[in-house]
Amino acid sequence: MSLKVYIDGKFYDKKDAKVSVFDHGFLYGDGVFEGIRSYSRLVFKFKEHIDRLYESSHGIMLKINISKKEMTKIVIDTLKLNELQDAYIRLIVTRGVGDLGLDPRKCKDSSIIVITDKIQLYPEKLYRDGLKLITVPTPRNITEALNPQIKSLNYLNNILAKIEAINSGYEEALMLTASGYVAECTGDNIFIIKGDSLITPSVYLGILKGITRSAVMDIGKKIGLKVNEDVLTRQNLFTADECFLTGTAAEIVPVVSIEKRIIGTGKPGKITSNLMKEFKKLTKVDGVRY
Ligand code: PMP
Repeated sequence: MSLKVYIDGKFYDKKDAKVSVFDHGFLYGDGVFEGIRSYSRLVFKFKEHIDRLYESSHGIMLKINISKKEMTKIVIDTLKLNELQDAYIRLIVTRGVGDLGLDPRKCKDSSIIVITDKIQLYPEKLYRDGLKLITVPTPRNITEALNPQIKSLNYLNNILAKIEAINSGYEEALMLTASGYVAECTGDNIFIIKGDSLITPSVYLGILKGITRSAVMDIGKKIGLKVNEDVLTRQNLFTADECFLTGTAAEIVPVVSIEKRIIGTGKPGKITSNLMKEFKKLTKVDGVRY
């Protein structure tokens, strides 16, 4: 059976799942989205993702015409229809069809799209050997212009950073704020461990308030770490005992070097490995069953 995609009340075969070229999501990146994951028929941190979607849309004055409860049901129905146990879910709300001008008032109805697919797991090697990062020249969007807390369809800032990392022979980029403090990576948040402290950049610096980030902070507290949100410099990262990234798709990925400065032992750290284990456990119990 071909994968079915939900668009505005109907399910379409993957090959027929299309939106208008006049949709402002396509023309201007005018819309918001979420990347969600399900584990053995359990949608992980579902409420948190739905809440963030509605907060993102509120920030850009994009009205979602259905309730959170209805939105939740649509995602569950799509997962069931596609008979997916472990899935990656892409939930998108666009401004909808308008004319060629920017004016969002011309877009009468927002569009809702739900794509559910098999999860593409990252290579095992990444978790075993760790990731090497490079800091890139493009700073993260400044909050005063486009707050990274809004998970919008415009990811050019992150894409530019990704291109710069790839051009330098690296897979992932460390992005700084315009003032030069550590922000996040192109699609993941960043953490360090120093002694018994777990530290991650504060949201006010201009990062996405990651849902995996929050889950890892909770786990950190439970296993007795001091958990802090703070301002971090590259030097704080270079001299950390351990470093890792968090995100829905990647979960927890150890980082072993930044610009060739080895972090800790140069291997995934003990506390990171423990957090990875605890996170796995959490994905088995936390979520909405379908
Ligand atoms: N930062 C950015 C820029 C992201 O796009 C994402 C999501 N892929 C994250 C951080 C991680 O957020 P979450 O844990 O909610 O997936």
